[in-house]
Amino acid sequence: VADKEKTSSVAKIKVVVRKRPLNKKELAKNEEDIIDTHSNSLTVHETKLKVDLTEYIEKHEFVFDAVLNEEVSNDEVYHETVEPIVPIIFQRTKATCFAYGQTGSGKTYTMKPLPLKASRDILRLMHHTYRNQGFQLFVSFFEIYGGKLYDLLSDRKKLCMREDGKQQVCIVGLQEYKVSDVEIIKDLIEKGSATRSTGTTGANEESSRSHAILQLAIKRSVDGNESKPPRPVGKLSFIDLAGSERGADTTDNDKQTRMEGAEINKSLLALKECIRALDNDKSHIPFRGSKLTEVLRDSFVGNSRTVMISCISPSSGSCEHTLNTLRYADRYM
Ligand code: ADP
Ligand code: MG
Repeated sequence: VADKEKTSSVAKIKVVVRKRPLNKKELAKNEEDIIDTHSNSLTVHETKLKVDLTEYIEKHEFVFDAVLNEEVSNDEVYHETVEPIVPIIFQRTKATCFAYGQTGSGKTYTMKPLPLKASRDILRLMHHTYRNQGFQLFVSFFEIYGGKLYDLLSDRKKLCMREDGKQQVCIVGLQEYKVSDVEIIKDLIEKGSATRSTGTTGANEESSRSHAILQLAIKRSVDGNESKPPRPVGKLSFIDLAGSERGADTTDNDKQTRMEGAEINKSLLALKECIRALDNDKSHIPFRGSKLTEVLRDSFVGNSRTVMISCISPSSGSCEHTLNTLRYADRYM
């Protein structure tokens, strides 16, 4: 009963918006900050033209679970999003934290520190509250690019997914590192991030076309028997999604770009559908819509938690993308 109370006090779905500061490029172009933030709502001031070409401002108001402005630190983001979830993954919960937004909106800046902070807290719980109870922590890091899976901790080795019929997703060949030291976790995160962003061509471009998935899995040895494989307990997944604007690359001249755009579009729509189904307590979750949602299948069923961090630029030049991001994140749209 105590466990149940602990898990039920954390919201099943939480949607948070993070606004970054104006950057040098935007300032150099005299772009303005068009977003006013309040504690859990924000207003976008969109400049539009009348038929006689005079300008007017249209205001768009949105309400979320929380709005984090440009002064909020990564520590505070962690506190607001993932920190409350960490204790309940010891209670068989699977939780997923997404960063959504256009390229350059701050997804990676927001997402990258979170798994390290979470694993620090997980290890602390393992060494104190759950001391000598056989819990173990595992890290894996892979990406979905063009609908295919690649291991970011083993030179982009191509992976495939298998379902075991028991609602567990198995990614064949995925490297899972058993870790008990934050420094090692830090190295793994650095290694995987570097593999992701340099890609095959060395262009930073690539990371905007893939979803990066870092998973922290808690397992427990059976009856203290270290020789048997440990049993899965809970999982925390961190997903740095492909740039949301890439889903619109479906009319590009380049065939490859077009196909990747279609795949990204499909996966982001499928994700929205799954989150909507979870939010409405539907028993059927449409995870078959894309590779991304299939991979996350076991995180959508049972005792699950979802945090969506929508990242936005404050700049007038990004107004259209920002509105798209906010509409995507809006639970009532
Ligand atoms: P994305 O992953 O969405 O493409 P990045 O996380 O790479 O975007 O962010 C783009 C740039 O903006 C980076 O140089 C990053 O350091 C900076 N940035 C993003 N968010 C913030 C923030 N909240 N505060 C300060 N700088 C930020
Ligand atoms: Mg990025």
